[in-house]
Amino acid sequence: MPHHDLEVGEKVTGNTAEGLKVPSRPIILFIEGDGTGPDIWRATRPVLDAAVAKAYGKTRRIVWQEVLAGEKAFKHTRSYLPVETLTALREYRVALKGPLTTPIGGGFRSLNVTLRQVLDLYACIRPVRYYAGVPSPMKEPEKIDMVVFRENTEDVYAGLEWAATSPEAQRLINFLNQELGCSLDLTAAVGIKPMTERCSKRLIRMALKYALDHARASVTLMHKGNIMKYTEGAFQNWGYEVALEFPEKVIPEAELTTRYHGQAPPGKVVLKDRLADNLFQQVLLRPEEYQVIATPNLNGDYISDALAAQVGGLGMAPGANIGDNCAIFEATHGSAPKYAGLDKVNPSSLILSGAMLLEYLGWTEAAQLIHLSLPRTLKAGIATYDLARLLPDTKEASCSTFAQGLIDHMV
Ligand code: NAD
Repeated sequence: MPHHDLEVGEKVTGNTAEGLKVPSRPIILFIEGDGTGPDIWRATRPVLDAAVAKAYGKTRRIVWQEVLAGEKAFKHTRSYLPVETLTALREYRVALKGPLTTPIGGGFRSLNVTLRQVLDLYACIRPVRYYAGVPSPMKEPEKIDMVVFRENTEDVYAGLEWAATSPEAQRLINFLNQELGCSLDLTAAVGIKPMTERCSKRLIRMALKYALDHARASVTLMHKGNIMKYTEGAFQNWGYEVALEFPEKVIPEAELTTRYHGQAPPGKVVLKDRLADNLFQQVLLRPEEYQVIATPNLNGDYISDALAAQVGGLGMAPGANIGDNCAIFEATHGSAPKYAGLDKVNPSSLILSGAMLLEYLGWTEAAQLIHLSLPRTLKAGIATYDLARLLPDTKEASCSTFAQGLIDHMV
């Protein structure tokens, strides 16, 4: 085979629901990101490539292909989100993305939100696990090993709100008072919380499939159905309806006692539901009872960040936005522009998002090398400033030195 063939990549095909078809040299898109995005991308790429090489030798390799978004895109094309980028994302389906600065007055609510909406990336997925050596406020942070599936298109993300005393709010309040028997104050601000059966069910279905594929013991529907019966309450009901699509594989928690003597048989997933306020207590007090959480948008926003804090903060938290035909893995923090170009910030969030990407491709051995290398690197006293200042016997390492440490500790 001529040498240049090694550089030729192929498209990932298939889809999230039926399974991906991943060639041995998949083309994976990357968006560098703004601010510190290029710093963490430069650190991330060699770590991912090293993990793949170590796990599979020459038989597998990622062929990275850049697409532009954010300030770099604007500089080259006068557009923050060029059409070519969206076309490429639709075509190649899998991408790793650095943080993007929200352009002020750029005509976008946020580039990130736009990407999610345009590509229908309906699930925001955040795995939350503890890596030994990371400073945490919990007594036993190692008990936390959860994946949050947050609905990404509806609820407050639909963004339907009107300011207090605006003509639109007053018109809506008049309609509600006159036509639907409400008695709202005319000076109120109003928001609408739309939630559909279709979008709730596809999110919950993805969470259940994930739990079954990854042998996770339970999925918990997190909701406020006691207060918002027809939105959050419906989410809960729709969840139990989706469970019926997996007969004998997914068991509602209530059946644990009636059919299974309190103990789920191996290989089955228990479907639970918890009120949102209660779940916040539960993940602090009994984290080992929760594995996968499926939830509407706003609850998911809160619980994702709270859980990230429990295991060491957002600088470490990976994430992905996934739809049926496209998946974008991304750092969960912002572009931290004040540190741009200093080779200083922690690249872990992007690197661990890359590890999620490897798992999504089915390249779990490579992902595992990264998961194992992180605690070893910290133990060797190598950490970026944000962690180093909290750890004894640890001197601050640069972003790139930390990444090299991860490569050196992959064994
Ligand atoms: P930010 O996350 O960029 O930074 C806040 C602070 O957190 C930083 O000053 C730094 O102290 C710390 N921090 C962030 N990332 C770090 C890292 N990798 N390592 C160590 N410390 C880190 O939040 P911000 O200042 O509110 O937002 C800056 C820009 O990023 C805004 O334009 C915002 O819209 C955008 N943003 C983008 C995303 C995304 O792309 N997904 C997410 C959040 C914010």
